[in-house]
Amino acid sequence: MEKNDFIRNRIREDVAQGTLEQGVITRFPPEPNGYLHIGHAKSICLNFGVANEFGGKTFLRFDDTNPLKEDDEFVDAIQDDVRWLGFEWDDRLTYASDYFQQLFDFAVQLIKDGKAYVCSQTPDEMRVGRGTLTEPGVNSPYRGRSVEENLVLFEGMRAGEFADGEHVLRARIDMSSPNINLRDPVFYRIRNIHHQRTGDTWCIYPMYDYTHCVCDALEQISHSLCTLEFADHRPLYNWVLENINSNYHPPQIEFSRLGLEYTVMSKRFLAQLVADGVVSGWDDPRMPTIAGLRRRGIPASAIRDFCDRIGVTKQDNTVEMGLLDFCVRTQLEPAAPRGMAVLEPLKVTLTNYPDQGGEEAGEWVDGVWHQQNDELGTRKLHFGPTLYIERSDFEEVPPKKYKRLSPGEMVRLRYGYIIRCDEVIKNAAGEVVELRCFYAPDSKSGSDTSGLKPKGVVHWVSASEGIPALVREYGYLFTVAQPDKNDMAATLNADSMVEHTAFVEPAVVASDAARFQFERQGYYYRDPLGLSADVQDDTPVFNRIVTLRDSYKPTQG
Ligand code: ATP
Ligand code: MG
Repeated sequence: MEKNDFIRNRIREDVAQGTLEQGVITRFPPEPNGYLHIGHAKSICLNFGVANEFGGKTFLRFDDTNPLKEDDEFVDAIQDDVRWLGFEWDDRLTYASDYFQQLFDFAVQLIKDGKAYVCSQTPDEMRVGRGTLTEPGVNSPYRGRSVEENLVLFEGMRAGEFADGEHVLRARIDMSSPNINLRDPVFYRIRNIHHQRTGDTWCIYPMYDYTHCVCDALEQISHSLCTLEFADHRPLYNWVLENINSNYHPPQIEFSRLGLEYTVMSKRFLAQLVADGVVSGWDDPRMPTIAGLRRRGIPASAIRDFCDRIGVTKQDNTVEMGLLDFCVRTQLEPAAPRGMAVLEPLKVTLTNYPDQGGEEAGEWVDGVWHQQNDELGTRKLHFGPTLYIERSDFEEVPPKKYKRLSPGEMVRLRYGYIIRCDEVIKNAAGEVVELRCFYAPDSKSGSDTSGLKPKGVVHWVSASEGIPALVREYGYLFTVAQPDKNDMAATLNADSMVEHTAFVEPAVVASDAARFQFERQGYYYRDPLGLSADVQDDTPVFNRIVTLRDSYKPTQG
C-alpha cells in the first residue's frame, strides 16, 4: 500500500516535476554520542524508507563535530543497529569530519565576503549580548573587525595559537532578528582535543548548524528531513547555503519527533541511566534503545511496523507503549513456536504413576509447536511421576468457577494426562510445597477414553527433564507516563525487572528458534548474552518480550 504522508507526497510532486536530477537522496545523520533509540528508528525508517520507495539512496552520515562527547563505540553500535533494522547504505558511509577542509574553506570565504567575524567575547558576554525572545541582541564589540584581522585570527585559531574559548567564529547576520538563531550564531569554536577520526589535524570544530547544511549540499541531499525543533533553524540553514554560494541547495523538511510513554528518549538522559547503573548498559532490555529492544527480543520487523503505524506528521506526539507491544505480538503470534515454562514451580507427585523412581521413569508425549502453523512441526515433552505446575494454577480454597487445580478437582496437563489433587503438603510455615495427585492413565491427550471432565488445562514441566532457567520479566522503567527528565530518580520503577528461577521444557532449550510463546505467559527471547559475561554459567536466560495480550487496540489509520 502506498504511503501518503506529507513528506512522501512532497517527494512524489518533486519527482513528477522532474526537478531532481540526482534522484531522491536522503541521509540519516546521527551524532555518535550514544546508542540509537526508537525515536531514531522513526527517522531511519523514514529516510531509508523513502529512498527505497523512490529508487533513491541514503547516506549514513556521522555528525562527528564534537569530539568531547563522541566515541567509536557509538559509531560501531549505530551501524549495527541500522543494519539490524534492515537498511543498507552501501558505500554511502560518511562523516561530517570528511568535509572539515571544505567547511573551513567556505568559512574563509564568508570572512572575505564580510559575512563572518572572529568574536572574542566570553561565553557569558555572548549569551547576554544575544538578547531574549522579547529583546533584541546587541552587536558584539568585535563585530567590526576588518577582513584582514579576521583572516589572521581565524588562521591563528586553526593553527592552535589560542586556548579553548578565547575566540569563536560567528556569522554576521542580524543581532535584532526575531529569530534568535540568526543573531550572529557561532560557526566555529576552539577545542584543543584529539578527534577520533581527524586526530590532531584540527583544533577548531564547526558547529552543527553550520556543518549540517553544508554536508547536505555536498552530498546533494534532495530532501533533508529533520525533526520539528529544527524548524526555527531553517532560516539559518538557508542563510548558510545562500551565502557560501552553494550550487546545490537542499530543502529542509521537518516532521514530528517520536515520544514514547513511560520512558525517556534523549541520548543524554539514556547515558545518565547507564552511568548511574540504573540499567546494565545501553543494551539493557528495558532501554528504549534499538540495542535494548533487540536484546529484549523485539524483532526488527515489529519496529518497522511500529514506525509505519505512527506515521509521519507535523504534530509532536507521545505514543503509548501499547502500540509497540501490539506490533510485537502481531509479528510473533503467527511465527513463534509455543513451549511450556513454569516460572513459579509447585511440585506435583503422581502417586499412581507406574514407575516412581529410576532414571528412566516417565514417557515422551507429543505436542505441536503451534496450533495454527503446522510448518513448525511437533516436539516431544517428557511426562513423568514428578512434575512442576505454576504455583498460581493451584488454589486450596478456590473461588467460584475456578478453572484450575484445587483439592479434589481435576485439570488436564496440556499434551499429557488428567490429574486430580488428592493431598496438599505444606511446610512448617504453612506454605504449600507439594501436591500429591492421582493421574488417569486412560486420559492421554489425543487418545482420551476416560470420560473425565477436567476443570481446565494447565501447563507443566517435567521435574526430571525440565531445564532450570533464569526468566526475566520486564516492566516500564518509570512509574509515570511522562517522567520528569531532570529528576529521573523520583519516578524510577523499582520493579522494572523481576527474575524467576524457572523450569523450561527441554525442547525449547534445545531448539534453534530464538523466540517462543511460553503458553499462558507471554513471548520470550533466549538472551544471546545469557548471564553477565563474567559469570561462568550456561544457565539459559529468557527475556520476556511482551505479555500475551492487553486491552490495547490501535485506532484505525
Ligand atoms: P537525542 O536527543 O536522542 O540525542 P538527537 O536529535 O540529538 O537526539 P541525533 O543523533 O542528532 O540525535 O539524531 C539523528 C537524527 O535522528 C536526527 O535527524 C534527528 O532529528 C532524528 N531523531 C532523533 N530523535 C528523534 C525522535 N525522537 N523522533 C524522530 N526522529 C528523531
Ligand atoms: Mg543530539
